Parts: sequence; structure tokens; C-alpha cells
Amino acid sequence: MALARSPLQGQPQEDGGELVQMALDVAGSLDPREVIARILERGTHAVRADRATLSSLVDDQVVVEATYGRGGELTWVGQRYSLDYFEGQPLVKQAIESLQPAFGGRLALDQAAPEFRQALANVRQVAVLPLVHGGKAIGMLVFSRYEEKPFAGDDRVALTLLSAISGLALRNARLYEEGEAARQRADETAARLRAAVDAAEDVASQVRLDQVLGRLLERAAASVGADGTSLARLEGGEMVIESTPTGELVGTRWPLMPKVLAGVATGRAVELSAAEYTGAPPGMESVVQPYQRFLVAPLVVGGETIGLLAMGRKADEPFDPAAVQALQQFSTLGALLLRNARLIAQARDAEQAKSEFMSIAVHELRAPLTVTGGYLAMALEGDFGDVPKPLRHVLETAERKTEEAKALAAELLTVARLEGKALTPNVKPVSIAEAVREALARARPRAEIVQANVQMEPGDDVTVLADDALVGKILDNLLNNALTYADRPPTIRVGASREGEQVAVSVADDGIGISSQDQGRIFARFARGTGPLVAEKPGNGLGLYLSRGLAEQMGGSLQLQSSHPGKGSTFVLRLPAVAS
Ligand code: ADP
Repeated sequence: MALARSPLQGQPQEDGGELVQMALDVAGSLDPREVIARILERGTHAVRADRATLSSLVDDQVVVEATYGRGGELTWVGQRYSLDYFEGQPLVKQAIESLQPAFGGRLALDQAAPEFRQALANVRQVAVLPLVHGGKAIGMLVFSRYEEKPFAGDDRVALTLLSAISGLALRNARLYEEGEAARQRADETAARLRAAVDAAEDVASQVRLDQVLGRLLERAAASVGADGTSLARLEGGEMVIESTPTGELVGTRWPLMPKVLAGVATGRAVELSAAEYTGAPPGMESVVQPYQRFLVAPLVVGGETIGLLAMGRKADEPFDPAAVQALQQFSTLGALLLRNARLIAQARDAEQAKSEFMSIAVHELRAPLTVTGGYLAMALEGDFGDVPKPLRHVLETAERKTEEAKALAAELLTVARLEGKALTPNVKPVSIAEAVREALARARPRAEIVQANVQMEPGDDVTVLADDALVGKILDNLLNNALTYADRPPTIRVGASREGEQVAVSVADDGIGISSQDQGRIFARFARGTGPLVAEKPGNGLGLYLSRGLAEQMGGSLQLQSSHPGKGSTFVLRLPAVAS
């Protein structure tokens, strides 16, 4: 209340209280109209005037905002006048130039606008208060009395206060209003941006290229209110349609009009009327006929225009500039996604081609290996006569190597089928106890060689929904690794238990363990451990990669549950349980 104190000094207490209340009232709203209404009403009653009028000063203009009669009637005027117009009113001029209230008799009737003359005819006394902010008059308040009773000392104090408070209150309200409008604009922009991001996420979630294009078109059309859309790639001076919502026109070539080319060059969307759009190739005029307006937006990635989004609207209404701007952001995101989708599609094609190549190559390799293996076995069995000892040794090594090569070929074939999505598990109920027993039987010869102690723990009698051949392959791999990666006769425990909807089969050993660094990579294709002992053992780094792939293919998983160098490892295979 520092503002109010000095003009109030020496005033009776009641008046002071009333003035303070008036000041609080005036400053208590942030709505400019409400502030104006309060200034007029409170001021009129405080100084017992018959009429009060508030005007704003904007540039060189006076805007008469509202006028209030002591009977309580408030009229919003909104009329504008040139400031020069008040040249003939010395009181007004004085108040605005001195930035001080000016008091006097009647205003110059003959100088007033005709519509005011009637009202001014009754006026006997006036007070003109400049509304000041930042050393400038931003408005003025005129109080008038219809009787010859000049505005006296008390009134003047009240009016001086009112003038100061009003200037400030009005300014604040206007600033607030502008701030609100700016905030609203920002909100709208944010909402549009949000819509573009949502659309981008939606488009990005589509994996297939044709779906990406379809979504892109749908979203783009919706964002600007278009009735028809197409997406084209650029080829020289032409565009080639890549996608339309119905799939028609795909592959057709359209010349690029100069106006569109100019837009493409600046990376901005170009709007055309039906009259301006003359680019339809012969025979395709009917395609553009239904449209009155066109919007063509370039799809730009890294400064390069990779395509165009064209949109048509049947109504002859221009596109909303704000929507076009949103489309711009949207096409940038869309272009990026489109390019990524293309790259992904290319990568997938390449991956598929590679898998197919691998299958063929491995098949080609297996046939001669089988023949070679057969001849070697026959030779070792003496089918071609006696084999001298040194040659037998060589033949035995060759046979072992051939078997290893065949095993590798078989694994590579499974990898190729898995990666080429050509492996469909033959799923049926499989008893885990049975599958483990069989795997242990297959592992026995090797277990005996390394003198391993292999135990099957008494666990739950569980059945899974899986492909028994694939489960066998995974268990073989895990047991083989447990038998391989040990520097002394290992103890291996296999257990199974039900975990809700799944069955967990664990294979635990007390072998060399896996360093924390290796733990992160052993499931990758061709990844082997880095320890010196691993290097000595035969292996190709495909076992865990394949096993995990097979488990996932059956709706399960394979994880390294724990491992400590020198203390052993536990792998857990999880598979869907048969509902009990
Ligand atoms: P490979 O055995 O042919 O190297 P795998 O994919 O089966 O390929 O295993 C990858 C790596 O994981 C192995 O090279 C080894 O370093 C490590 N590994 C797998 N199982 C075990 C285990 N039971 N104990 C210690 N290390 C293991």
C-alpha cells in the first residue's frame, strides 16, 4: 500500500479506508474490461461525478472504451479518434502532455464530435486524468459534473490516486491478456506439434514399408483436412507415385510444375488452385478433376528432398496456414521415418538373401561331406583292404574332421532356417523328465571320457508345449558346454520346476565359469569366450546363439542365470508349460 499512502496523508480515516478499498477493487482484476468497469464505477461514486469516460491511447489514436453514468449504466463504445482531434480541448491536451490531472469548467462543445455534443451540453465541471505507465500516457479518464461544483481538494486527492492505480491496473490487465493469448498460441502450437509427434510414433510403429506409407498419407491428410493424397518419389523433373490410399495410380509419372519445383527447392509446402494445377499427364485429368485446391509438401531428409506429399481438397477453401506449418514438421518426421523404413526393408531383404545363400551353400557342402565320411568309414573298416597303421591314423583324423564339418554344416543350416524365418517348430506336449533322460543318454559317452558326474535332480514332473527335437538340441548344447568348459572332472546337475505359466529347466556345472565381460556376449552369433582354456576347446560359437533362437521360436527363453569364474555356471531354459 506504499502507493496509496502519500496522497492519503492528512485525510480523515474513513475517507482513507474508502480510497484504499477503491484502489484494491480497481487493481483486483486481471480482465481489462472488468478493470475498466471498476475504475469508472468506483471513481464516479468516489468523487460524486455524474459521468465518467475511459479512453485508451494507442499510437496516435484515442479509443473511447466505455462511459458510465452515475445512475449505473455502463456503455461500451469502442470508437476510435485521431489524437489531433483533441487539439481543441486544452484540458485534455494539458493532462496528456503534463501527465498530471487537469481540472476545469466545461469542455469546448463546438470542438466535440457530434455524437458527444448532447452529452457534453450538460457538463459544468471536468477532471481529466491521464493514465500513466512507464512515463507515458496510455489512456485517460474524464469525470464530469452536471452542476457548478468544482472538483475540490478531497476529490483531487482521490482522483490522483485513482489515476495512478488505474494506469497500473489497466496496463497489468492488458499485459496479462496478451500473455494469455501468447500462452494460448503456444498451447496450440504445442498441441499441433504433439499431434505431429504422435503421428510420427504411429507411423514408426508400422514395420512394413507399405504400412508406413499408408499411415503417413492418412495422418498427413487428416492434419490438413484433405480429401485425397498421394506420395511420390522424385526422379529428375518428374514425380513417380509410390503410394495412394487405394493403391491406384502407383507407378504413374507426373511432370513437376515450376511452382512446385520452386517450393521443393526451398523445402516448403506449395499451395495451388485448380486453375494453377495443369500438370496431369494425358488421360489422367479425371484424377485431379474433383479437387479445387492442392497442397504439395516436400519430404526432406538431411537437406535432400526424397519425395513429395500431394494433397487435394474438394472444397475451394485455402488450407489453414497453421495446419500447413504443422504438416511441415510432420513431413520432416515422416521423411525420416520413410527413409528408415526403406533402409530397414533393404536390410531385411539383404538378411533374407544372405540366409537363403547360406542354406544353399550348406546344402551343397553337406552332400560331398557325407560321401567323404562314408568312404572314410568304409576304408577304416577294411572294405578296401588292409590299412597300414600310419595311414589309419591319418584316416581317423580325417574322419573326425569330416564329422566336425558335418556338425557345423548342420548348425549353419539351422541358423539359416532360423534367421530366414523358415523354421516352424512342431509343438506338442513334451515331458521334460523324458527329454532330459534322453539328452543325458546321448551325453553319456562324452561324460565317461571326461569322468563327469551328471545328476538329474528329483524335480517336478512337468510337461511343456514344445518341439521335442528342438528341446533335445538345446539340452545337448547345454550339456555339451558343461562337459567341455571344465578343467577337472565336472559335476553337472539338471533340474526342472514349474514357474507359473512356464517350466524352468536348469543345467548347472562347477566348471571354469564365465567372466563378467564374456557374459554379455556369449549369446551372440559366432561369439566364444576369451579365456585361454576356451581357445583350446573345439567350438564355433554358435551353440548358445542357436539354442536361444530355438527357445524363443517356441515361445520360451534361454538365459545364463549365474556364473562365477572358477566356480561354474547355471543356464536356465524356460518353455511354456502345459496348463494343468
Ligand atoms: P562354443 O561352445 O562353440 O564356443 P557356445 O555358443 O555354445 O559356443 O558358447 C559360447 C561361449 O560361452 C563358449 O565359447 C564359452 O566361452 C562360454 N560357455 C558356454 N557354456 C559354458 C559353460 N557351461 N561354462 C563355461 N563357459 C561356457
